[in-house]
Amino acid sequence: MEYTNTLEFAKKLDATDPLSYLRDEFHFPEINGKPALYFTGNSLGLQPVNAKEYINEELESWRQLGAEGHFQGKRPWFHYHKFSKESLAKITGAKPNEVVAMNNLTTNLHLLMVSFYRPNRISYKIIMEAGAFPSDMYIIETQVRYHGYDPGDAIVEVKPRKGEYCLRNEDIIKIIRQNAGSTALVMFSGVQYYTGQFFNIQAITRAAHDAGAYAGFDLAHAVGNVILKLHDDEVDFATWCSYKYLNSGPGNTAGIFVHENHGQRTDLLRFGGWWGHDEQKRFLMEKGFIPMKGADGWQLSNVNVLSTAAHLASLAIFDKAGIKKLREKSVNLTGFLAFIVNEPGSDQISIITPANPEERGCQLSLVIHKKGKEVYDYLTRNRVIVDWREPDVIRVATVPLYNSYEDVYRFGNLLHKALTV
Ligand SMILES: *Cc1c(COP(=O)(O)O)cnc(C)c1O
Repeated sequence: MEYTNTLEFAKKLDATDPLSYLRDEFHFPEINGKPALYFTGNSLGLQPVNAKEYINEELESWRQLGAEGHFQGKRPWFHYHKFSKESLAKITGAKPNEVVAMNNLTTNLHLLMVSFYRPNRISYKIIMEAGAFPSDMYIIETQVRYHGYDPGDAIVEVKPRKGEYCLRNEDIIKIIRQNAGSTALVMFSGVQYYTGQFFNIQAITRAAHDAGAYAGFDLAHAVGNVILKLHDDEVDFATWCSYKYLNSGPGNTAGIFVHENHGQRTDLLRFGGWWGHDEQKRFLMEKGFIPMKGADGWQLSNVNVLSTAAHLASLAIFDKAGIKKLREKSVNLTGFLAFIVNEPGSDQISIITPANPEERGCQLSLVIHKKGKEVYDYLTRNRVIVDWREPDVIRVATVPLYNSYEDVYRFGNLLHKALTV
């Protein structure tokens, strides 16, 4: 798409955007009585207007039915984890039985590693990206220690080349090959939280399998943002949270993917709970754990219904919009942002996110070379909500569900002003 940095151009794009109606389905935060320019959907997605209604429906069921709500009402709680499957499957490129919403991301990653990180003296390493999100670093460090290995030896980090921020796919593949045989697990994020780089999930998974390792992904910044093909790419397992691009509310339920190659296996060790137990026999309260087939067999507890209601509310919007259409708009919206940031005269800023749309989602990470914090503060004073990361990075996410081209234009205008004050 050819861009022009004018308000008229932005307005024209909004007028012809088939998804522009979705903006009204979200509540925008207000600052001093005026709506904010919100670009932090990578951290916490906005509240869907229908969330209240979905939560109220469950409050009503609880009020009117009490325990009978498990089997009666519009969405009986006994089946609650099933109501998100179709939508999550579409968003992640999975089959419905390969996905389930449960727990929180960090908990899920530990649970999945119980099954998929089974180190032995020959094969015990985990290959991951350097500079991963802290929770992922701690998960992997403590898992390695739990099994009696030394993190310094067992964790192999792939680092950017000198002077670069992002990882080169060829470097990732090379390190996996070099550690073939001694690697038990390759664990990456889908979209890197700091740089916004979208890793090549298919290539990483293939290389992991060729090296005799499992491939797992933390999709916190990828789900609802980029096109995923977890089933076809033969990813072994993945997990994500639902409060970033999935707009389900702070700390809300996460999700997991387990490839059907593994979901049918009964030999995989796991930590069991009654909600993962054979549904037909769940209330017989008998000894002997029989896991459900598919991802459901990793569930532990019954569903946190009140908050998961908000998850369903948001997924209903994704169903209406369709992830492919959202991604098409997303590429154009982020392209517009990149165009504006790169305007002549903006050599005070570098975009560290890959320039190729296929290697990024909707987030751009901007390094502000001088007085970054002052630029950030100027933006904040002007009702812009973006995210500041020490020492000099501003992360901006243009979310196709609720951001407009006009938002992007206005942001660019304020950014250029901030650089000249
Ligand atoms: C947001 C995020 C998390 C958060 O973990 P929670 O268990 O939901 O608190 C973990 N990992 C990555 C990569 C994230 O981006």
